[in-house]
Amino acid sequence: MTQTEILWKYQEAESELDRLKKELESTPERQKLRKLRRILQEQTEKIDDYRTGLKEKEGEIENDLVKLEALLKEYDLEQDDLNIMMEDEECTAEELTECRKSMENLLRRINSLQRSLTECQKFIADTESAIKETYSKGSRTKRDYEAAKAVVETERSEHQPIVDKAQKTVDMIGAQLSPELLKRYKAIKKKHPNPVAGVQDNRCQGCGMSLPMTAIKKISSGTAMIECENCGRILCC
Ligand SMILES: [Zn+2]
Repeated sequence: MTQTEILWKYQEAESELDRLKKELESTPERQKLRKLRRILQEQTEKIDDYRTGLKEKEGEIENDLVKLEALLKEYDLEQDDLNIMMEDEECTAEELTECRKSMENLLRRINSLQRSLTECQKFIADTESAIKETYSKGSRTKRDYEAAKAVVETERSEHQPIVDKAQKTVDMIGAQLSPELLKRYKAIKKKHPNPVAGVQDNRCQGCGMSLPMTAIKKISSGTAMIECENCGRILCC
């Protein structure tokens, strides 16, 4: 057998190995496992987002509470002022109105802050229950994930000897090839999944390009390794 013929066999063995590996990677249970992994990832991200939202809200509440405390203090001072002014006979009606207006303004700000605090509290309660719900969904997903993983492991251990056998065949044929040729084959494989192409009706079966007679003669005699000028595949009769 010529080197090119052995290479052809090598390609066949390798594509069988690839097929077996692919088959193992694409069983329904594998697909299920990948889907569950994606869902788990999404749930984790969701919880992270909720937590970030909670932290921001907590910061907001802290700020609002500081502001509220200052406003309440200011309001108390205004109240004291008003009490004094009301007892002061020299105090004019305008001054009293001014003081009341200022107190009303403070009260509006206090009310608005209190509303904002109530909203923050509602947000926190809602987010906490959403986290809880996501956790409970997550634990169901995790359970399904572990079950699928166990099935996939069984599939793998059942399938592995077949893959190993195919790998052994590839290695055995590969050992009969010159290292340079194998290296060339692997380089071409990066571009074409099937680096060796047959020749039919004087054409490269990889790309369909018509081949010169001199090349055909060389390939048929098995004296030289010829690559297709167009696609670069190694040609085999
Ligand atoms: Zn070609």
